[in-house]
Amino acid sequence: MMDLPEPSFYPEATPLGVLTTQPLGKLLDYRAPEGGARTGDLVEVPLGPRRVLGAIWGDAAGDLPVHKLRSVARVLDVPPLRDELRAFLSRAAAYTLTPPELMLYLATRAPGLIAGQAMRRVYRAGPDLPVRMTEARARVLAVFSDFGGAALTIGEITRAAGVSNGVVHTMAAQGALIEGAAPRDAPYPRLDPARAGKALSPDQAAAAAALAKGGGDFGVTLLKGVTGSGKTEVYLEAVARCLRAGRQALVLLPEIALTAGFIERVEVRFGARPAEWHSGVTQTERRRLWRMVAEGGAQLVVGARSALFLPYRDLGLIVVDEEHDPSYKQEDGVLYNARDMAVLRASLCGAQVVLASATPSLESWANAEAGKYARLDLPARFGVAELPDMQAIDMRSQDMRSGHWISPALQQAATQRLAAGEQVLFFLNRRGYAPITICRACGHQIECHQCDARMVEHRFLKRLMCHQCGATAPVPQTCPSCGAEGKLHPVGPGVERLEEEARALFPQARVAVLSSDLFASSRALKEQIEGIAAGAADIVIGTQLVAKGHNFPLLTLVGVVDADLGLHGSDLRAGERSFQLIRQVAGRAGRAERPGRALLQTHQPDHPVIRAILSGDEEGFWRAEAAERRALAMPPYGRLAGIILSGPEVQTVFDHAGVLAMRAEPLHRIGAQVFGPAPAPIARVRGRHRVRMLVKAAKAAPLQTALAEWVAALPLPRNVRLAIDIDPQSFW
Ligand code: ADP
Ligand code: ZN
Repeated sequence: MMDLPEPSFYPEATPLGVLTTQPLGKLLDYRAPEGGARTGDLVEVPLGPRRVLGAIWGDAAGDLPVHKLRSVARVLDVPPLRDELRAFLSRAAAYTLTPPELMLYLATRAPGLIAGQAMRRVYRAGPDLPVRMTEARARVLAVFSDFGGAALTIGEITRAAGVSNGVVHTMAAQGALIEGAAPRDAPYPRLDPARAGKALSPDQAAAAAALAKGGGDFGVTLLKGVTGSGKTEVYLEAVARCLRAGRQALVLLPEIALTAGFIERVEVRFGARPAEWHSGVTQTERRRLWRMVAEGGAQLVVGARSALFLPYRDLGLIVVDEEHDPSYKQEDGVLYNARDMAVLRASLCGAQVVLASATPSLESWANAEAGKYARLDLPARFGVAELPDMQAIDMRSQDMRSGHWISPALQQAATQRLAAGEQVLFFLNRRGYAPITICRACGHQIECHQCDARMVEHRFLKRLMCHQCGATAPVPQTCPSCGAEGKLHPVGPGVERLEEEARALFPQARVAVLSSDLFASSRALKEQIEGIAAGAADIVIGTQLVAKGHNFPLLTLVGVVDADLGLHGSDLRAGERSFQLIRQVAGRAGRAERPGRALLQTHQPDHPVIRAILSGDEEGFWRAEAAERRALAMPPYGRLAGIILSGPEVQTVFDHAGVLAMRAEPLHRIGAQVFGPAPAPIARVRGRHRVRMLVKAAKAAPLQTALAEWVAALPLPRNVRLAIDIDPQSFW
């Protein structure tokens, strides 16, 4: 049903097929409304007693006579979904084995689409002066002159002037203000791509020129450069080119906390702020953005992965910054990888893709090796900044007291840096105070009631928290198992506990902690980050949040508190992730004039990953990783799909998984192997038992078709859910 026919016009009362946003598994047939309708039009259609949102997808599939069909209720007053977007949704649905309805839902998730383009009431300054000029009325008039005579809503006026609604109403009644109507969704201010950017270094200029050669057509470029080498400056040149050609650009960032800084750079470069799309943006703004992107009133969108599903009028460039970042993989709902979907969408709309990273994913590295992607390297840091010198601290030879995690060697190095007025970062990728709370009387460890996960103590929040499901509970006074009082004891460090240790070791230093759960809003986080960059802290303690793209010019020493943390685990990418994360974090040191240093506390200084990090032989690391994956036919040289079954009763889930595993002919036919079923590493989440299987196939095998046939043959028992994760990134 997902083949896309040529777009057509359906005259009034002719049959047509509608894809709704409801999970029905098929197109529904309707009659075209008065005035007719086009393929791609968003419509409201009756479904039982309700009306639902849908899009006209093509011809009617059934053979009911047209007078028996219900009519489309209304064609929405928005631009129709373009062929390119519909093709993208269909292909993305087929690739991820997601119902197309869900994909359409992702693409139409703008509030107020159905309500349409309402007008809103606005005011301008009128010809008459107020009958009596009070102080409040004068302030209102002053606001209008501050805004250059623009039309303003009552909310904007009362907020800026600090007056009540009554003041505005009275002034309007007297003719001092004139009431009018304006469309709700205004275009975004124009960016000026003709403005000159920074003068580029020869390397940067060469990279920008190479990108410019590919402009206008589909093509993917891996832009690799150490942190601080100026990748952003280079891809902003590509954005400028795209905007000059009159096309739209999209920049994806892995973390909302990074958008504020990036948007300021755009403003400096192009003279206005771009459109912003992520979960922190208001509903009103989302609706405006959706419409403006479709109408061409937004030139540049900066956003999170879901910005890929917006109805661009003419998308010419997609930048995926920090392309290796695991958060590009959506891990619940629709399981898709935004990096891969960006490439798919670009191939359908003739756009250029730039994947930027200091530590590319093995997938992108291998695609560049194979010549599928172009590759550009920025070898040096911009200006005088140098890469940090990296060394291991062998923890086996350090004299560690229990309950302490900062070794004497690291302490000594930090003391020197602090004495020189420089900043120090202690990196530990663990939120909270302590990962384990144990009873010293009976050995009981406090676990989440609904998950097979330990509760993590958060002293800042004064609660225990489950990092799996987010449930929280007060810290008990007595052991829930044996009842002993005052015996509960934290084990292991989190950033909050490390903060305690740092304050004790360096009583003079100002300590700041950067961890996502410590900030009420992304603005508060941004302020903290700016404060640190300006020198408001001497010691920064951070989780992986600090690894991503922030620039701290005073920071010269990075201490990786536990470099072994990510090395182990069943995860296919454990080594790759550790390598990326630690190199990213180390890259925080020495971004300005002063040289930086990174010290890795490790019990395994000879581990190949630790050695690769220290030697800085990145190509060697990737070659070795690639050889290993190739030998095992693992991604990117083979394909995987994760199958996750879950349900309230463990036996039912296991039984169904067992039957699936036995009846896997469709998979065997394509030469795929099935591993499992086995209890998932986290065997219970939110009260549901989880069982995993892993399907492994050759790169060219038609995996999705076989998977679809396989699972469709066996109806799911009640209450059991099955999710298929194509190209899984995590294996929990
Ligand atoms: P990356 O994206 O590779 O981490 P950035 O583009 O953020 O690097 O550059 C790092 C720092 O160097 C930024 O503060 C940036 O403004 C500055 N910089 C990079 N290139 C130039 C240039 N050509 N002229 C002036 N400053 C630059
Ligand atoms: Zn839980």
